[in-house]
Amino acid sequence: MSVFFCEQIKTQNATSAIEIVREKICDQADICYSHDIGGGLGQKINKEIIPINRTVFDTDESAKQWLKSHVTTEGPVLLVPVKAPDNYATIEISKIHDNFNKKVLAAEAEHNNHHKSLMALQTKAFQSLKRSKSKLKSCHKCTSKIAIEFVKTPHCPVCQQQNALLSNSVFNNINIQKNKLETVKTNLDSIINERDKMVAELTMKSQSGYINWIFAALCES
Ligand SMILES: [Zn+2]
Repeated sequence: MSVFFCEQIKTQNATSAIEIVREKICDQADICYSHDIGGGLGQKINKEIIPINRTVFDTDESAKQWLKSHVTTEGPVLLVPVKAPDNYATIEISKIHDNFNKKVLAAEAEHNNHHKSLMALQTKAFQSLKRSKSKLKSCHKCTSKIAIEFVKTPHCPVCQQQNALLSNSVFNNINIQKNKLETVKTNLDSIINERDKMVAELTMKSQSGYINWIFAALCES
């Protein structure tokens, strides 16, 4: 599976941005087939690094979207300029991060806890399904009779309905927990979006003309 690499380089100058990217690629060259430790970037060792400065992107996000649709597995590493915050905005952005830190951490912790309890609930439900005295269970959705001995998940192997082999009450309970997790995740996302929007607005208002570079690559394997 190809991995998309994208990172901001905090320099104004295209030549030094290229040098920094080149160093990053060289650092990863020996481990270029170890995706799990992020080595895939090293596969670009013999590729060009091309700065494209037609447009200075307003935000990291818009630069990233553009890069995502232009890098290819066989192609070069691309670099684009993105508007950088001026000194005033840099200080204000760091204040925003400080203000949001507690909220983000609390929402992340809540999300992790909900995720863990849902996992535990599903594991327990599956274990008791496997211990069940009846050899066959009917799927809630398609009513197929399924031999419990051979199932490796509580999902229906015929219609793929999730948790469809569990009892009605457990099935409903899991769905309630899943909805709760969804709500918690939405809350976390909206906090992060609110923070990132404030940061992007400050950066866009910056008048210094500073830029940074963002590079991106899609590894070959
Ligand atoms: Zn089914």
